[in-house]
Amino acid sequence: MKKALFLTFVILAVEFAGGLLSHSLAVLADAGHVLTDVFALGLAWFAVEQAKRPADQRRSYGYQRVSILAALVNAVTLIVIVIAIAVEAVRRLGHPEPVQGGVVIVSALIATAINAYVVLGLRGHGKSLNLRAALLHVTSDIGSSAGVVVAGAIILLTGWLYIDPILSLGIAALIAYGAWGIVHETVNLLLEGTPSDINLGDVTGEIAATEHVTGVHDLHVWALSSEAMALSAHIVLEECPLGDAEHVVRDLETRLCSRFAIGHTTIQVESCHPCGEIHHGGGEHNHPHEHVVVTSSAVSPSGGRAAPPPAAGSSSRGR
Ligand SMILES: [Zn+2]
Ligand SMILES: [Zn+2]
Ligand SMILES: [Zn+2]
Repeated sequence: MKKALFLTFVILAVEFAGGLLSHSLAVLADAGHVLTDVFALGLAWFAVEQAKRPADQRRSYGYQRVSILAALVNAVTLIVIVIAIAVEAVRRLGHPEPVQGGVVIVSALIATAINAYVVLGLRGHGKSLNLRAALLHVTSDIGSSAGVVVAGAIILLTGWLYIDPILSLGIAALIAYGAWGIVHETVNLLLEGTPSDINLGDVTGEIAATEHVTGVHDLHVWALSSEAMALSAHIVLEECPLGDAEHVVRDLETRLCSRFAIGHTTIQVESCHPCGEIHHGGGEHNHPHEHVVVTSSAVSPSGGRAAPPPAAGSSSRGR
């Protein structure tokens, strides 16, 4: 990872200098693409380090979600660079600027060679969102750098200057395409959307097929990071001893982890007052007071903790 970062810095320096020397927007756009590689690799490293931090009182989930934040920052940066390239390319289409083809070819050739080397090194490093994003950048960089070499040759041979802004727009489109995928997945994670590899119907089926389980509701599956998933659900059990109920929960935890790779489960067991009897919808209070009162008075008829406050006037403490 450190070597990839260093090599990418080398490409950035070569292409930035080459772009300024040759006045080629395509080379500068390619350098912009490489800049996002450096940024993505740095963010990926930062997120991996943060995810190692243990959970604490302030962040009870730990810091795994830093990777989502990093991917979002990465995607926003890509979009800003795309807009910058597109604006300059359109300006140059109106007023083409002279470009030194030789410098373009040399700097883009160096970039292509180093990128190919980096991709070979990055492959097979897991399915982390940030690493995948980084790999995607570098792979498309090979294509765009090779395109810049061709553009340099065309400028040298024919002097057709429009190829430079046209290719720049192509590179911008390539960056935008990569950014869109990252934005799409990151937004889904931030919205607590069901992870793309989970079918909620299958999860419901798996839980409902358990012995003693008569119903499942309020099922949520979400991702803490691109690697860790969590689930919460209410299950309704037929009348059975508490020990059996606990075994149902333990058994579910194991099966959900082995079949769906959901490692963090929270399962609420209901039997005598399932949620169907009380109101529980989006935005509503999870535990309506009627239910709490019924439960506590059933437990201690002489006035439980959750007994309603005495009506004004009837209070013996005379508040
Ligand atoms: Zn809910
Ligand atoms: Zn009850
Ligand atoms: Zn419930």
